[in-house]
Amino acid sequence: MTSQSELTKLSDESLARPPDEVFDIICKIGRGSYGSVYKALHKESGQVLAIKQVPVDTDLQEIIKEISIMQQCDSVFIVKYYGSYFKNTDLWIVMEYCGAGSVSDIMRLRNKTLTEEEIATILFDALKGLEYLHSRRKIHRDIKAGNILLNTEGHAKLADFGVAGQLTDTMAKRNTVIGTPYWMAPEVIQEIGYDCVADIWSLGITALEMAEGKPPYGDIHPMRAIFMIPTKPPPSFRNPDKWTSEFIDFVSKCLVKNPEQRVSAAELMQQEFIQNAKPRETLHKMINDAKEIQAAQISIITNGDDSDGDDDVDHGSTMKKTDDSTMKSTSETLSKSESGTVVVKSEASTLVESDLGTLVINEDSEDDSTMKRHDTSTEGKDKYRPSYLDHFEKKEQDKVAPPRAQPQVAPPLKHVTPPHHSQRSFIDGDFDFLRNLPYEELESRLADLDPEMEREIDELRARYQAKRQPILDAIDAKKKRQNNF
Ligand code: ATP
Repeated sequence: MTSQSELTKLSDESLARPPDEVFDIICKIGRGSYGSVYKALHKESGQVLAIKQVPVDTDLQEIIKEISIMQQCDSVFIVKYYGSYFKNTDLWIVMEYCGAGSVSDIMRLRNKTLTEEEIATILFDALKGLEYLHSRRKIHRDIKAGNILLNTEGHAKLADFGVAGQLTDTMAKRNTVIGTPYWMAPEVIQEIGYDCVADIWSLGITALEMAEGKPPYGDIHPMRAIFMIPTKPPPSFRNPDKWTSEFIDFVSKCLVKNPEQRVSAAELMQQEFIQNAKPRETLHKMINDAKEIQAAQISIITNGDDSDGDDDVDHGSTMKKTDDSTMKSTSETLSKSESGTVVVKSEASTLVESDLGTLVINEDSEDDSTMKRHDTSTEGKDKYRPSYLDHFEKKEQDKVAPPRAQPQVAPPLKHVTPPHHSQRSFIDGDFDFLRNLPYEELESRLADLDPEMEREIDELRARYQAKRQPILDAIDAKKKRQNNF
């Protein structure tokens, strides 16, 4: 590959090498539900790319879905996928770099909503992207300003296919609730089955989001919004006098509650509002403003006001960076994610908070009550754990908790000084004997507790594996036999 040629795909040779030999990580540009996104240089071609690093203990099924949808797309209106790697405990997803970030990043940075002209130009490309997806029977399912990325030339591209789905002939309509609550179409919430036009509703909501800074009902709790969207009339502009009749008309065509009466992306392309959309240059001022603000924030941080610190950059432990790039990473990361958040929290009361995460209900679940929340906020986010651990933990708790009705009888002497600090007395449900133990003994019991519990969990895990593996092997053997017939 020459440095002149545009990268379309990573070569097999590139894909076989360790990713840190193929790319130089430049800095971190953001963080989502599954992992962090880095700006990187493809050493061979000199092209700048984006790399999403996802720890493999996250919901891999969702990630694989995202990769497979991106991989099947070849459109300038969809973020390109170049290939992926496994590196230690991370999956690296290499994709096209969109230098201006997402439309919601830009709103946050500038603390400003978009003008009608800017909105029309972005919607033009977004509709092209939807037209492309829908003609291939793919539904995006999470259209919102946060998932429309812009490159520095002003091309808008659809991104984040984590919840996208492929409609097949045998599965004409899906009936799972999926998406981000405020942007969800009524039929998606009502679980009456939906298809591509669900994305059109979300695009209408995105248009309102770009105009007003947040989606309708953005102020109220997402679960309440979920009840309001199907029951209330379609939302519209808070201040219609501010907008042209073409724009109002466009939004009202998207926000038709009956999906059968909602227009397609191809039809919306013919709308006056879109037909009159200005060229991409319209977005240059907005993009440059955002970049300037970002640069100013970087300079504030590099000049020593990094009071927050940033533990983000280095937690991709697989990266080898020079001191220089580490410096750069720290400041750029702060400027985009940390400082961006500060803007939202401190001033942008009209802007949507960044924790409006993606909600997935009933997806791939036999249990109708299952609800997964992919929260875009990363604070206090639980790491993925196998569900069997919960089961074991509950059993452990049941064993450890003293039965309520049981009278607290003084323990026999052997419980006062149990051999090897055993936890028997706890299991027997009697704690009173602890009061009689000397201070040192209590401290030593406390110190032993964690390792002991870990050992127990390890033993349980080993037993679980020992029981599980033969079942998996039997399933595997059955599948192989079936394939042979
Ligand atoms: P969620 O995963 O909850 O939907 P998200 O879409 O923000 O959240 P990511 O897709 O991991 O999560 O992206 C995190 C951030 O990284 C984005 O908000 C955007 O600022 C930046 N980003 C993602 N992909 C790219 C890209 N291809 N080019 C440039 N920036 C990107």
